[in-house]
Amino acid sequence: MKLLRALVLIAIIAGGGAYAYQLRTTQSNVAVAAPVRYKPDAAVERYPAAALDVREHGRGPVVPAAALTGFALPVGYQMPEETELLPGSPREYRGGYHEGVDFPLSMGMPVAAAKAGKIIRIDSDYTEWSVEEQINGEDVGFRLGYTPETILDKLRGRQIWIDHGYGIVTRYAHLSSVELFSVGSIVEQGTIIGHVGNSGTKAGPHLHIEIRVGEGYLGDGLSGAELLRVLRHAFSVG
Ligand SMILES: [Zn+2]
Repeated sequence: MKLLRALVLIAIIAGGGAYAYQLRTTQSNVAVAAPVRYKPDAAVERYPAAALDVREHGRGPVVPAAALTGFALPVGYQMPEETELLPGSPREYRGGYHEGVDFPLSMGMPVAAAKAGKIIRIDSDYTEWSVEEQINGEDVGFRLGYTPETILDKLRGRQIWIDHGYGIVTRYAHLSSVELFSVGSIVEQGTIIGHVGNSGTKAGPHLHIEIRVGEGYLGDGLSGAELLRVLRHAFSVG
């Protein structure tokens, strides 16, 4: 019985690995650059040392408080408060958790940069995965108890990543199209970078924004009023 269980486990891991490899080999047209490590210098505003001592955004590293606020909401839209649309919400069908904020917007609506920064990924060429591949990918996550990064990346569909320094990166997912920028382009807050879609997902059109903080995401480990407070602060909502 023990042997059988071990064999099943090996089969699951091997299957997941093969699938992840398959995904990796089909991702050659995605431009990815390593996040820029910003060193504080004369050109970067200094923050009071006290601000560096407060970890108030979840499980991520300690960063300057000012780096975690001043993000713009999509124009004319409020911050959603339904738990399922927020970071940390369980996604049982793939054994994982939501890592961003979902804004249910209409197909084709313009998506603006939430803050000034440098584009470090833009999927100008993008090939949609099939519904079958998607179901298989979610199933791998469900069986493993977590969603492997390669599958999570495919689930986010067509993406743009913007580096804002201090290890803060915004990711815009499920886009239907992207504007004519490239890796290294500097964008201002409010610059139109792409359009709302539902690439990578079976769900309806919506904008999924993640605020990455180092290896984690804003709100990781927080819930309820504490999570809302951190998100409201990030998006400068009272
Ligand atoms: Zn989402």
